[in-house]
Amino acid sequence: EALKHGRTVEMFEAKRLANAAWELSLLARIDEGMRNGDIWLAYQPQWDYHEARLSGAEALIRWNDPVRGPIRPDEFILQAEQAGRIDALTYWVLDQAISAAERFNAFGPRFQISINLSAQLVDKPSLISSVADIVRRRGIDCRLLTIEVTETAGMCNRPAAIQNLMKLRAMGFRLSIDDFGTGEASLSYLAELPSDELKLDRRFVSKIVHHERERHIVASTINLAHALKQTVVAEGIEDLSTFELLRQLGCDVGQGYHISRPETLDQLIARYAALTKQ
Ligand code: C2E
Ligand code: CA
Ligand code: CA
Ligand code: CA
Repeated sequence: EALKHGRTVEMFEAKRLANAAWELSLLARIDEGMRNGDIWLAYQPQWDYHEARLSGAEALIRWNDPVRGPIRPDEFILQAEQAGRIDALTYWVLDQAISAAERFNAFGPRFQISINLSAQLVDKPSLISSVADIVRRRGIDCRLLTIEVTETAGMCNRPAAIQNLMKLRAMGFRLSIDDFGTGEASLSYLAELPSDELKLDRRFVSKIVHHERERHIVASTINLAHALKQTVVAEGIEDLSTFELLRQLGCDVGQGYHISRPETLDQLIARYAALTKQ
């Protein structure tokens, strides 16, 4: 019996060590990826219905791991959170987004860059000082950046999160409630968070042409958001009829494969430059 117990402990210990080694290598590979370009940002443009032009882009993280190949961003974000690397990753994203915003805004009209803020970071006391450091170092106009937040189980301290978001907004950042209408971002969010923008989730947007219920939900949400002085962005627009219906419903900004897939920064800048010159 003692022998059997000893072996179980041994196996448990071996598993623990393997996990620790895996996490350590994940951590090292994330750091390495940020340095060598295995980790990069794709940019998905956003279409302003009122101005009839591309008015911004969302930065979406990509990781081509040399060993495992491309890793899905939500899976990768989760791993980075577990490995305790989400702060470094987010500040890296912010730094990259600042460079992107500078390049877009070097010519042509105002161009907004959106980044995603992990729920694990949003209530952290260190968030504001870290962001302020980067902003001071890079000297950017924060109004060119939009920070998208989604609620997940990770956001435990709501008052602290709201405090942080208010401070970010006071710095000049625009705030966006991502995935609105899903379980993760609901009316209480709209009531409590200081926000400028609401992103309608793809799960609703993709159904508005063929399903009356979703059409009513989206139409009402747009009206509600406008009453609260929010800009409405629809995500996941995959075809022309959805794109046109959203215009009729008064949506402000559209994002989705119908407009463009996420592209590299160079691709998007080239396209934007060509459009702006016309
Ligand atoms: P999200 O913030 O809701 O981003 C929108 C997702 O929808 C992106 O997936 C985008 O590529 C995809 N998408 C855009 N247009 C369409 C469309 O017309 N049809 C369909 N079917 N999909 C469309 P992606 O790039 O795989 O990112 C997945 C999620 O990973 C994001 O969802 C976001 O939650 C997270 N994520 C990505 N980058 C970051 C980051 O830098 N930081 C954090 N914390 N999370 C990130
Ligand atoms: Ca987003
Ligand atoms: Ca979203
Ligand atoms: Ca999402």
